[in-house]
Amino acid sequence: MTGENAGATGARGTGSGTGTTKNAAAAPAPGSYTLDSKLSGALGGRTAQAIERAFGYATVGDLLAHYPRRYALRGELTALASLPLDENVTIVAEVLEVRVREMRQRRGSILEAKISDGTGILTLTFFNQKWRENDLRPGRRGIFAGKVGDYKGNRQLAHPDYELFDESETLTAGDAAAKRWAEAPIPIYPATGTLASWQLAKSIALLLEGLGPVDDPLPADVRERRSLLAHRSALEQIHRPERESDWKAARRTLRFTEAFVLQTALLERRAELRRHTTTARHPSAGGSLERFDASLPFSLTGDQQAVGAEITDDLEHPVPMNRLVQGEVGSGKTVVALRAMLAVADSGGQSALLAPTEVLAGQHLRSIARMLGPDLSAELMPTLLTGQLPVADRRKALLRAAAGQSRIVIGTHALIGDAVSFADLGLVVVDEQHRFGVEQREALRLKGQHPPHVLVLTATPIPRTVAMTVFGDLDVSTIRELPAGRAGIESHVVPLADRPGWRARVWERLAEELAEGRQGFVVCPAIEARVAEDDGAEEGEAADVSGPAASVASVLAELTAHPRFADARVAPLHGRMSADEKDRTMRAFAAGELDVLVATTVIEVGVDVPNASAMVVVDADRFGVSQLHQLRGRVGRGSVPGLCLLVTSAEAGSLARQRVEAVAATLDGFELARVDLELRQEGDVLGATQSGGRSSLKLLRVARDGDLIADARDLAEEVLAADPGLTAHPALAAAVRRRLDDESSGYLSKG
Ligand code: ADP
Ligand code: MG
Repeated sequence: MTGENAGATGARGTGSGTGTTKNAAAAPAPGSYTLDSKLSGALGGRTAQAIERAFGYATVGDLLAHYPRRYALRGELTALASLPLDENVTIVAEVLEVRVREMRQRRGSILEAKISDGTGILTLTFFNQKWRENDLRPGRRGIFAGKVGDYKGNRQLAHPDYELFDESETLTAGDAAAKRWAEAPIPIYPATGTLASWQLAKSIALLLEGLGPVDDPLPADVRERRSLLAHRSALEQIHRPERESDWKAARRTLRFTEAFVLQTALLERRAELRRHTTTARHPSAGGSLERFDASLPFSLTGDQQAVGAEITDDLEHPVPMNRLVQGEVGSGKTVVALRAMLAVADSGGQSALLAPTEVLAGQHLRSIARMLGPDLSAELMPTLLTGQLPVADRRKALLRAAAGQSRIVIGTHALIGDAVSFADLGLVVVDEQHRFGVEQREALRLKGQHPPHVLVLTATPIPRTVAMTVFGDLDVSTIRELPAGRAGIESHVVPLADRPGWRARVWERLAEELAEGRQGFVVCPAIEARVAEDDGAEEGEAADVSGPAASVASVLAELTAHPRFADARVAPLHGRMSADEKDRTMRAFAAGELDVLVATTVIEVGVDVPNASAMVVVDADRFGVSQLHQLRGRVGRGSVPGLCLLVTSAEAGSLARQRVEAVAATLDGFELARVDLELRQEGDVLGATQSGGRSSLKLLRVARDGDLIADARDLAEEVLAADPGLTAHPALAAAVRRRLDDESSGYLSKG
């Protein structure tokens, strides 16, 4: 089936995959609209509105990029035994029997239909809808959608949506057609409670009928070299396949196209950034960088030196640097960044350091002042500039930034605020990229007269393919080597599901650490019983656990009442405290005036207290892999060996438990990043995310598609090298523009 005669597919009458297009609205004339046409014009206001509300789609192209999650076959029934409780499912099954009975307690009837896959049985219940008896006749097959409930131990769907296969279709058609119909895969779309899969299928079929010619975003030559389908055919075949090979070929094409368009967008932006000019920054002989290096109490690791050289080299060019430095927690990124700031200061410029929270900004200020020592500090005047400073202090800080007195300004997002101006902003360092979106980076870039150099630090190790996909416009440097003399960290899972008694031993171990003169953290997912801490939680992570989470309040109460902690100085730390309180608490802990911090993930990144040896994470399964790894990195930073106890009630074998076990099994952040991606992907398959949404990756999975992404990037580079403005490739340029529009609605910032 090719794009040119796509209208013919409508004649099959099975466009929606369910054999009932007969009832659908009259087919629009082919060529009625393009990918950019508004959905409201193509589908009618109400349907378009429902789709927009559910998924955020506004155009024909948006909805046509809503690809089926999987395909079902009419002849193949869904295994009912393994259906997950409380999830929305779409299944193919056969009606076994139907019964209607009057209710005893009140007026009305209940219709119960049993459907089966040949082994398991699922009950459908409808109240006061007797007429469905005529519909749901034994032996009929169809697709059913609803939320799986449990009624007295039996799985059921209450008031499901369903669509029965229309057997008359097979009777009136010839044998061959009937066979084709029976074999055609039925697309199952990511659906919502209000928009069933087949409703989406019908809308999509309508769009395909009326869609005019579609220009191919892939250059013909690329398409041929990779044996891919024309775009129009790929859209047709992914939504209305006649056989399995159709959708497979279509998916291969569309997946490649997605990678190719994305890489083209990223490479273009990368080139665009390099077209700007900015001030080259040279460290001066005998300047602050040299003096700093001479005063360092340790020698830089090989990686620190190598990355440092890459950065100095970038800074010496009049093209804005855009570099990501990734390195394990404690690998010494801050030192590397500080050296870059000193190189800029030597040439008369200022640097801004952005931290994800006020606590961390405050901590950065202190550790930078300490590293600089009194003389350099006096000269460079590192200054804190955050939203919560008292008015007078803030004014002073603003002045210092504007007058150029302060060569190093440290703050949070507030630094991007309009009120802050710099005399000569030469470098922006963003600590912990995953908290900052592309837009914020953009806003910062506009702060200097020339775009400043940008250095992004992340302790979340990023596999190469992710870096290529999410940060494809950045150059990447990696610090793998940890400074020598680290004592290491021991990690253990404390599986309360199997060993409830071990909870007591957790507190015992913590108390032992304190007895050695060490300090510890206890991290909880929530602040109070019902208040989740969200200033640390990564979106979409740990969505598979439910029930109340351990809270700072309850653990604090538990420890305070515990005889082993009678003499311990225990304090809370969480996002609901004022910046001042948080800061004071952190300082007291760093100074050794507190023994235990019971905290939320506010302590996740950057906190550096060498004497802290114990990290207890309660309900560890509530956190993502990278978060746990980050948390663990808070201990074992000095010469004191670290102990990390990951306490979980998750059942052995569950995904939540696997996550926690993965973290305990290795200290290698790169390995964990890989495992994390794999486990997340599993989560997707299991149905945690049913709806796609406009701004996410569609068919690409960075964990699985690394080679494909790399291949697409190479080919995109070739195309751009030959045609930097994409003037010979208008369809590709348009696809890139669409992608960038999506991105501004947030998708690239989803690290
Ligand atoms: P990161 O920001 O990557 O987590 P930091 O820069 O905060 O790491 O460094 C962690 C600790 O290690 C700091 O106390 C720092 O002074 C120290 N450090 C950094 N580089 C070295 C090195 N080469 N040798 C010894 N200690 C180092
Ligand atoms: Mg750091």
